[in-house]
Amino acid sequence: MADFDYDLLVLGAGSGGVATSRRAAMHGARVAVVESGRVGGTCVLRGCVPKKLLMYAASFGDAFAESRGYGWALGESPRFEMARWQATKGAETTRLEGIYRQMLAGGNVTLLEGQARLLAPQHVAVRAADGSEQVVSAGEIVLATGGSPVLDTLPGLESAATSNELLDLATLPASAAVIGGGYIAVEFASMLARLGVAVHLYFRDRLPLRGFDEMLRTAAASALQAAGVTLHAGGVPSAVRRLGDGSFVLLFGEERANAFPWVLNATGRRPNSGGLGLEELGLALGRNGAVPVDAHGHTSVAHLHAIGDVTDRKNLTPVAIAEGRALADALFGGLPPRTLDLNRIASAVFMLPPLASVGPSEEELRAAGHPHEVYETDFRPMKTAFVGGNERTRMKLLVDSASQRVLSVHMAGHDAPEIVQSLAVALTAGATKSHFDTTVAMHPTAAEEFVLMRSPTRRFAG
Ligand code: NDP
Repeated sequence: MADFDYDLLVLGAGSGGVATSRRAAMHGARVAVVESGRVGGTCVLRGCVPKKLLMYAASFGDAFAESRGYGWALGESPRFEMARWQATKGAETTRLEGIYRQMLAGGNVTLLEGQARLLAPQHVAVRAADGSEQVVSAGEIVLATGGSPVLDTLPGLESAATSNELLDLATLPASAAVIGGGYIAVEFASMLARLGVAVHLYFRDRLPLRGFDEMLRTAAASALQAAGVTLHAGGVPSAVRRLGDGSFVLLFGEERANAFPWVLNATGRRPNSGGLGLEELGLALGRNGAVPVDAHGHTSVAHLHAIGDVTDRKNLTPVAIAEGRALADALFGGLPPRTLDLNRIASAVFMLPPLASVGPSEEELRAAGHPHEVYETDFRPMKTAFVGGNERTRMKLLVDSASQRVLSVHMAGHDAPEIVQSLAVALTAGATKSHFDTTVAMHPTAAEEFVLMRSPTRRFAG
């Protein structure tokens, strides 16, 4: 190892890359991380963090309306100013970037600012913004370059905004078309509608959020409609055209066209694997340019590893962090390789109200022929029911018929991500339905309903 400049070179200073490099340095490795943009990656700068801050902003709309029912008298009618949110968000992401930079420096990790390209499995050229280039060698290399929005899903869609540009807007449009039905489409359609934008959501399937439990997909569609979003199920345009005044026309074959001042492209993300010199090293990229890895993050090229979104498996920040730490522990900490169970990762859709889920959907269990019992509940939450709201909270437990182990928890409603995150611990510990049944309820909460569901609504015998 001493013949190399570093023991480990990580490409990408997002959440996964920073976690990997710090953990390796903690084990005594000489580590550098290469980054061509700002430090912090998608989650901190363009994703989870600013998105959630916009969700909090959007949630005040309902809070103002409900407050009247709770006895508050509000003065002038509340108005959202995106530019003011923008200024505060900019300051917050700058603060977080500073923390990430400090974490690298404090963790004994060298930051090399520039664009990386592999010349050989253990040699990387780093090109700085001023055009100067240095070649750095390392015993091990980890790709942690993340992903970016797909721009070429439909003809002309590259002229539309992505979530990156949305989060940098200074003013919101009066109306918007959102194309896609996944996490980003649903979260931003929900937020924009609550911030006063007339939103039309165009997606391919009959419901948004393909792959989630049907109960959650139905709840998402109802919540979007209740927020004023017009749903166009199975109604994706064939092309998008940008006009000279900056507005857009969505084309539906020859016969129909809809005009919008603004369009959000939310049709998915793609691994950032281009331009790294990977194929020149003999690494065959997978679908969408994903870097293929084994269960421990190793590619087919010796000394070259990959974690997080560039591998396009479970594209979630905590997964990238866990994969990176496991890899660093195995490479430099003398620990046995760890494998993440990607089927038992909790995730949330931060719409209003949110959805959260851990474990397989009911449809997945049926398709696998897995015998199970379904426990469900559906009620009006106390907070909105008190002021005459029609909102509903939905919960579902899926239980293995033979062992009575709880396989999945699904919830749509306020605090769903907080509640499901906690219940994920119980599932990791192997909790059975009788553990839920013997847990005394905390009253009055929504979460208590998870320990009060007594009889299954249906059974699937396989
Ligand atoms: P998703 O993969 O979740 O959704 C992509 C959407 O684009 C799907 O609805 C898909 O439709 C649609 N689409 C794809 N191709 C086409 C096409 N040719 N025409 C029309 N529609 C198309 O991607 P996102 O960009 O929303 O999010 C990327 C990833 O980032 C997520 O998978 C998730 O891992 C992560 N993420 C997580 C968040 C969270 O944890 N809360 C928030 C945001 C992102 P169809 O279903 O029909 O294939």
